[in-house]
Amino acid sequence: GFPILLHYLLYRSAASPPSTSFLLLGPSGSGKTALFSLLEGKSQRLGQPVRSTHTSQTSTFTTVALPPTVPTASNRYRSINDPSLSDISRNPIKYQLRDTPGHGKLRQTEGIGRLVSMANAKNPKSRARGVIFVVDSAALSDNEALREAATYLHDVLLYLQKRALNKGKSSSKLATEIPVLVAANKQDLFTALPPSSVRNKLEAEIENIRKTRSKGLMDASADSSTGEDDEVLGGDEGQGVFTFQLLQEEVGLKVEVIGGAVQSGSEADTESGVRKWEEWVGMCL
Ligand code: GDP
Repeated sequence: GFPILLHYLLYRSAASPPSTSFLLLGPSGSGKTALFSLLEGKSQRLGQPVRSTHTSQTSTFTTVALPPTVPTASNRYRSINDPSLSDISRNPIKYQLRDTPGHGKLRQTEGIGRLVSMANAKNPKSRARGVIFVVDSAALSDNEALREAATYLHDVLLYLQKRALNKGKSSSKLATEIPVLVAANKQDLFTALPPSSVRNKLEAEIENIRKTRSKGLMDASADSSTGEDDEVLGGDEGQGVFTFQLLQEEVGLKVEVIGGAVQSGSEADTESGVRKWEEWVGMCL
């Protein structure tokens, strides 16, 4: 019965290791590099040898250990008596993180390019398991910064939507869901918008972008009638105002906005500052 099933599951996952790669995206100055370094440093303190590969100037890749107290989706179902769990501090769950610093105006294009290649990686190990989109919660009260962040996020989500909608059409097993964490960073600053406002502002700005684009598409396809549904985020405008909830309902794409801080006063705060993001990662694994 159960032991055989468990053995089968373990064996099967050993035969085809699922991806544990996460991609860091977001506007410049949001804290991606700081987050990357923090997690890398935390892994070193956990006694984990960190393998950091600087493959090119535009992408850095590191293996990070998840703190043993952070639950994962796969061990949630395991018995507390499972001996492999007591082993977990010596052999923690690990994941890979890829940072995409980029340069100047190319940053956004490079980020999307990285996402496309990671989403479609032939090697299941390097395929994207999730996207961490970092925003500066204090900067979003500035319209221009909000516009930049929302445009970038819109493009990320539009790509993931196309990918999700294509899944039905192609028989390819490549297309597993890629959830998005919007990491509302810099919550330590008193000028930071709370995560709920970060979500509302991004949703409202994405709604503007979506309206503009769908109008553009309608104008362009007025005589050729080649307008495609999947060109508009969250389906066509008939669906009402854009929300991340709508995106999940219409397309099955999960977006969560969670507050945190890479930098804060004390070490203890720093530990808790990224904890909820690590829990999000854990729930993907
Ligand atoms: P990147 O361009 O996204 O890689 O952003 P960086 O990691 O270089 O961070 C941009 C700036 O924001 C740096 O000066 C960081 O020290 C600062 N920063 C990053 N995270 C936080 C945070 O949680 N709180 C505060 N106050 N500053 C932060």
